[in-house]
Amino acid sequence: MTKSASCLWVTCPIVIGAGPSGLATAACLKRKGIPCLILERDDCIASLWKLKTYDRLRLHLPKRFCELPFMPFPADFPTYPTKDQFLDYLESYKNHFGLDPVFNKTVVSAEFDHRHGVWRVITSGPEHEQIEYVSQWLVVATGENADEVVPFIEGMDDFGGAVLHTSSYRNGRSYCGKDVLVVGCGNSGMEVALDLANFNARTSLVVRDSVHVLPHEMLGISTFGLFIWMLKWFPIRLVDRFLLLASRFVLGDTEKFGFRRPKIGPLELKSISGKTPVLDLGTIAKIKSGNIKVYPGIKRITYLGAEFVDGRKESFDAIILATGFKSNVPQWLKGADMFSEKDGMPREPFPKGWKGEDGLYAVGFTRRGLLGASFDAQKVAEDIELQWRAEAPKFMDLSTALSL
Ligand SMILES: Cc1cc2nc3c(=O)[nH]c(=O)nc-3n(C[C@H](O)[C@H](O)[C@H](O)COP(=O)(O)OP(=O)(O)OC[C@H]3O[C@@H](n4cnc5c(N)ncnc54)[C@H](O)[C@@H]3O)c2cc1C
Repeated sequence: MTKSASCLWVTCPIVIGAGPSGLATAACLKRKGIPCLILERDDCIASLWKLKTYDRLRLHLPKRFCELPFMPFPADFPTYPTKDQFLDYLESYKNHFGLDPVFNKTVVSAEFDHRHGVWRVITSGPEHEQIEYVSQWLVVATGENADEVVPFIEGMDDFGGAVLHTSSYRNGRSYCGKDVLVVGCGNSGMEVALDLANFNARTSLVVRDSVHVLPHEMLGISTFGLFIWMLKWFPIRLVDRFLLLASRFVLGDTEKFGFRRPKIGPLELKSISGKTPVLDLGTIAKIKSGNIKVYPGIKRITYLGAEFVDGRKESFDAIILATGFKSNVPQWLKGADMFSEKDGMPREPFPKGWKGEDGLYAVGFTRRGLLGASFDAQKVAEDIELQWRAEAPKFMDLSTALSL
């Protein structure tokens, strides 16, 4: 049941989402003297990091590639800050820029009102109370990872054990001595499998699709940092060839352990399809030592376990779905062409995806993590600033016309 919406005229931009992208946008605007209203569905900032990630998580990339605009990480943080350190940094960022998100406001609809030239944004609160916010600018910062992807697998409802998504997994303590199947071998799936094995769970990993696995570091140097540097000097295919050779040297032939490599190199594949290579944090070593078993695709789930496409059958106590997340923009953004209905991402790829029509913007949909979010946030703030000064007098006329 919904209660009727009250209506609020907002003379500044509305930012949806108080994750790193929303905070970065608000900070960039603030530096230009432009306030904004941040609407957040949860009761905290960075809820993906706070509520939906596992304990052992650290930034996968070195901190210099993950800092938000105008505030570096503290010098005494390690190269790869822990999840709690990252959350501390975001809290300090929010406080430093005096940002004040409005929590427990889930955006359920946003639509451009062509007659008045404004965005009408409707939120729902914990008691289903609705508020309509009206503004000239709308910044979408709800993230590429807003909702869990839970695939249909035949027989899943019949499984006798626990089934959970990685967003609900914290650590492997309660799985010690149990048979656990991790479905999916992206960065999260690989790391959760490693964590389970470290907690002495009998761990199995489903590797259905081809995937590039690269070492997290080579000779103590971050692989990510290395290829970013190499791309400044060499063509992408040459860098790919180097990465594949170096990976073979560090990790061995991963195909032998069930990881088919795609035909296209890791960076070229990323630029064409957005598919991120996996940075190995020790999972391959556990597979080599037999602590983690690898299976190809699942044929069906049974009451006791799973049948795999190669005919093997195994029993499991729990199944953990490392099947990723997706954008939720198509659920609530109406009548805007900027985002694809299919995947909720901007139709224009990076670096053009940040600007839509009629004062609509996107921050953090670049498939380039926090680095991409910082780029977007600065572009958006610069663009809004241009209009902010010129358009301010119009607000008075509009608010009269809308009788707000
Ligand atoms: C396990 C894991 C590890 C990662 N490691 C790294 C890393 O090391 N480096 C890196 O650069 N990136 C990493 N990433 C990617 C990471 O998602 C982003 O870097 C970062 O969180 C993106 O920030 P964001 O603000 O765009 O999205 P999010 O962090 O997802 O924030 C979006 C916010 O919007 C809110 N929201 C969503 N829908 C609505 C709605 N309808 N109404 C109101 N609010 C809404 C959400 O509650 C959330 O608070 C990792 C991701 C995962 C899952």
